[in-house]
Amino acid sequence: LVGAVDQGTSSTRFLVFNAKTAELITYHQVEVTQLFPNEGWVEEDPMEILNTVYECIDKTVQSLTQMNIPTHCIKAIGITNQRETTVVWDKNTGQPLHHAIVWCDNRTQTTVDQLIAKTPNKSQDYLRQYCGLPISTYFSAVKLRWLLDNRADVRRAVDEGTALFGTVDSWLLWNMTGGTNGGKHITDITNASRTMLCNIRTQKWDKELLEFFDIPDYVLPEIRSSAENYGNMTEGTLKGVPLSGCLGDQHAALVGQTCFKPGDAKNTYGTGCFLLQNTGKKAVMSRHGLLTTVAYKLGKDEPTFYALEGSVAVTGGLVRWLRDNLGIIKESADIEELAQTVSGSGDVVFVPAFSGLYAPHWRPDARGTVCGITQWTTKAHIAYAALEAVCFQTREIIEAMQQDALDAESEQHSSSTLQVDGGMTNNKLLMQLQADILGCTVLKPSMPETTALGAAMAAGKACGIWNLDPDQLTSVTFERFHPSVHEDDIAKRYRMWKLAVEKSKGWHFAANS
Ligand code: ADP
Repeated sequence: LVGAVDQGTSSTRFLVFNAKTAELITYHQVEVTQLFPNEGWVEEDPMEILNTVYECIDKTVQSLTQMNIPTHCIKAIGITNQRETTVVWDKNTGQPLHHAIVWCDNRTQTTVDQLIAKTPNKSQDYLRQYCGLPISTYFSAVKLRWLLDNRADVRRAVDEGTALFGTVDSWLLWNMTGGTNGGKHITDITNASRTMLCNIRTQKWDKELLEFFDIPDYVLPEIRSSAENYGNMTEGTLKGVPLSGCLGDQHAALVGQTCFKPGDAKNTYGTGCFLLQNTGKKAVMSRHGLLTTVAYKLGKDEPTFYALEGSVAVTGGLVRWLRDNLGIIKESADIEELAQTVSGSGDVVFVPAFSGLYAPHWRPDARGTVCGITQWTTKAHIAYAALEAVCFQTREIIEAMQQDALDAESEQHSSSTLQVDGGMTNNKLLMQLQADILGCTVLKPSMPETTALGAAMAAGKACGIWNLDPDQLTSVTFERFHPSVHEDDIAKRYRMWKLAVEKSKGWHFAANS
């Protein structure tokens, strides 16, 4: 058996898989509290994150015991985590110096403006050549810069050499391998590639990037591969078990969906939506608003694989907003039944640019926009438009990928299927709309925990008990959604979407000028 810690934005899980069949044996899940201290700010308590991990491990082990499965059957543990979320802690006390700043927090907009103004060509894309990413509120270096500029405790601890920086994987690995008693300060290359401080070609912390952000290298973790023995658990019911896999959540899902060949792609529908396409051993620089990222490096001596990524900030978050802020549904899943009461959005288009638009637009000034409302519009049309918004955003990402592939004269754009996962994929109407709007078959695996599976596969590979042959995943089958409407109908709706996106841009400036 192999265990996987899946530390996500909204919850933590610990899952146990059979390393021969990839079958999920048992798991436990605990919600994580999100704090919203100001508009646009999103924080989590690193201690709570750590405690939820131990709680999930303990509860899962209890359930294994009830199933008469001895815990020594767990031979390795992998970690997968919400990416970019930034933690700074004191290495002497083990205490966080601030709450974790979560990936979708956009307090750093002024920091971003200042950083862009510093570039020779005043471009948000200036650093792409080094790290594959645009300068955006999304990435960790910008969040760390904000902490250094705005929190005296953090500044002091960094100056005195007692502060350690890390993404959530580093925070967990340091604690789980001993904390103040010799914990390992490490990260894996996929998480490092989301900080803006790592050169994706050399896969090392980059001197020029560190200078640009004015961040000292001694606060940074050591970069390791995604599958190797990082150290053993020093506490709890699984004390002594090796921690041997680590990947950012979207990278883990790519592995869990066995997207190992160039051109293979998966789309994960959760709070946001993240489409990653394997580009093989080549780091492809996007000219169409996508990110270039390390996909995985499954062993010290294994090659590094890269991916193009399209990140969409708000998808499931829109459904939550309809539930929590408008109150038009009671549970997220209710959106399906409500939307099904109408045959379409009634020409309503909803652009959920709550905190700007991520890929492929990268427009922090965009704000949410609903177009086409008439006397006849009902909450069902709004619900339908919300689901369509998820699908249209995905189509924009796929088209950007196709454009990049055409530029590179690669054949990678020709896939006629899309593999999907994540909480929203339980919504069958959404999946059918996605197949219609893309004009391709959507494949949903029967085992939804592909993110955790990817981390378990990496950990199992490092310990020699998982060979990563896709044929080994015998327990995984797929549900298929085929396109069912005429292209012309979709083309018209997509044109309307594009028009609405243009209308959403610039709203933040208009509101603040
Ligand atoms: P994350 O990993 O980002 O925390 P999950 O993959 O757990 O997200 O998915 C949860 C998100 O999916 C929530 O934003 C929720 O509103 C949305 N969601 C869950 N079930 C459904 C559903 N049946 N239809 C539409 N949205 C859903």
